[in-house]
Amino acid sequence: MKAISLTEPMAWAIFHGKDIENRTWPTKFRGRVYIHASKGFNKEHYRWICENNNRLVCGDIPFEYEFVHGAIIGEVTIVDCVQHHGSRWAMEGQWQFVLENPVLYDKSIPCKGMRKFFEPVLLCSKCGKEKREWDGLCQMCWEAYCSAEWWRTEGGLLA
Ligand SMILES: [Zn+2]
Repeated sequence: MKAISLTEPMAWAIFHGKDIENRTWPTKFRGRVYIHASKGFNKEHYRWICENNNRLVCGDIPFEYEFVHGAIIGEVTIVDCVQHHGSRWAMEGQWQFVLENPVLYDKSIPCKGMRKFFEPVLLCSKCGKEKREWDGLCQMCWEAYCSAEWWRTEGGLLA
């Protein structure tokens, strides 16, 4: 499954009432995508959401330092791509990817962000290197962790 990267707080907003994604380019892609929160933070967007929350209805807005960065935080389905969408989130002059069924993950997945749609490159949360495993540590860190645990428990008992 491909991913698309957004700058916070707009990645967060997808799971709090934002029903479209504005882009300068159109897409023919329809289907499920991962939502990646990039490293950046857009203070202007943050202020705009805070000031307009009574009509945007996002619920409780996190503090700036609480947003997750550099990770996949959930997934959503792109069902259409239009211009002049009626959403309160639509930006005139841009394309709107119409979104449905957002699911925010309990646990975000560290991952590099890239332009347009991309295949996620997952990063080990311990060593920071690329990994294939979807969940947890890379194979090397996992093995190191397991053998350390073995020495701490089984190995310790034998000694
Ligand atoms: Zn690792």
